[in-house]
Amino acid sequence: MMIADAQRSEMDRSIDELDVIVIGGGPAGSTASTLIAQQGYRVRLLERERFPRFHIGESLIPETYWVLKRLNMLPKMQASRFVKKYSVQFVTSSGKQSAPFYFWDNKPHECSQTWQVVRSEFDTMMLNNAREHGVDAREAVRVLDVLMNGERAVGVRVQEPDGGIRELFAKVIVDASGQTGIMMNKLKMRVWDPLLNKGAVWTYWEGAYRDTGKDEGATMVLQTSNRLGWFWYIPLHDNRVSVGVVAPFDYLFKGRGSHEQIYNEEVERCPAVAERVASARRITGYFATRDYSYRSERVAGDGWVVIGDAFGFLDPLYSSGVLLALKSGEMAADAICDGLRNGDTSAARLGHWGPLLNQGIDRMRRLVCEYYEGFSFGNFVRNFPDLRGKVTDLLIGDLFTDKVDVVWGPMESLYGQGKQAPSSWDSGMPDEVVATKHNELTLPDGVRP
Ligand SMILES: Cc1cc2nc3c(=O)[nH]c(=O)nc-3n(C[C@H](O)[C@H](O)[C@H](O)COP(=O)(O)OP(=O)(O)OC[C@H]3O[C@@H](n4cnc5c(N)ncnc54)[C@H](O)[C@@H]3O)c2cc1C
Repeated sequence: MMIADAQRSEMDRSIDELDVIVIGGGPAGSTASTLIAQQGYRVRLLERERFPRFHIGESLIPETYWVLKRLNMLPKMQASRFVKKYSVQFVTSSGKQSAPFYFWDNKPHECSQTWQVVRSEFDTMMLNNAREHGVDAREAVRVLDVLMNGERAVGVRVQEPDGGIRELFAKVIVDASGQTGIMMNKLKMRVWDPLLNKGAVWTYWEGAYRDTGKDEGATMVLQTSNRLGWFWYIPLHDNRVSVGVVAPFDYLFKGRGSHEQIYNEEVERCPAVAERVASARRITGYFATRDYSYRSERVAGDGWVVIGDAFGFLDPLYSSGVLLALKSGEMAADAICDGLRNGDTSAARLGHWGPLLNQGIDRMRRLVCEYYEGFSFGNFVRNFPDLRGKVTDLLIGDLFTDKVDVVWGPMESLYGQGKQAPSSWDSGMPDEVVATKHNELTLPDGVRP
């Protein structure tokens, strides 16, 4: 859309023009805005909700450490009540447990301890941290549209808390609006992943089973007996546990009853989960989402960048979402500061990191697809004990280097006859299938998004 602002004089505009506007105050938006403000630029962050607000995505992975460090968030995380996470463990459909993958064994450094976070608390800490670094973060401000001047993004139209409509201008617009994907929808850039079509149903328990010592905070990934789904089991503070099932969307929701019925049926298919919650008290209703993985065709254009879920969403199997939000926020912030310093906010300058990000996501996606196609961590490590460290590198989120690529050949050597490596995220699907895709979140009564 051409903007009403076109009539305003250049002088008028430059008076109130910001350097950067960031849409969304989740982990991606807080990261990008903080790192840009650290360099002395004027950043305004616009968040639709009032924090704290509910969000899913509770298990962090160790490589978040390095971005949290740049954000000066580590002391806050260390002083928080978030449960410390040292490992991830897999349980097969027959109940066989892999040995835990302890991150420390692989990298004896404090980065190998990460956290299980309650996102309403974590996101609020991140947003307040952004404010402490000079970001002007406003809540209850909804971005209605990104304003374009030709191909270039120049501002946003917003609805203020009092309902008033306003236009704001900046040299760069960062879309960190999560699955809303404002720019992706506006420019029709969303590419649905042809392989990863999942749904999830989850709830929260108090008093469920917890391991002790350094295993207390382990994420467990437990396959259901029919191998169609898997449960996450994430211990949180205040004696709570987040327990959810992920499975192909059609299987999980089509022709089945309420979310409660579906959940209970799947718990029955997973005795290791049933045992763990048997004497616990359920403290919320049931949450559900349909979560088709997707990515944007581009990370940037003239004057705009997309990060976090507003760029892409990957199946939550390995808890990589917050890491990718932080990493893309960091990559974008560095490119934006470089662009502002050099007076060049072209697509090429703002988005040169796109291929690196895509490559990293490709690696995690490959591991996700392999799991859904029958890959067993236990079996792999038995066959290739020397590669345990490289698999752990992938699990901690060390994705942006080719050193981990040595695992793919050996993995393929264990394929049964006729099996092939998974097709790529952009290998396409028929238009009539694309037309049926949209992600949605159903919350129980009383929970705000
Ligand atoms: C079932 C499930 C389980 C998951 N488990 C994990 C996990 O264990 N670990 C993990 O790391 N990740 C997990 N994820 C992924 C994780 O939730 C996301 O990847 C992560 O939250 C992305 O962060 P973000 O900042 O990009 O987006 P978000 O966290 O979604 O933040 C976007 C923000 O933008 C705001 N916004 C939206 N539209 C507008 C607008 N028009 N104007 C202003 N503001 C707007 C929203 O209110 C929101 O606060 C999971 C996801 C799902 C679906």
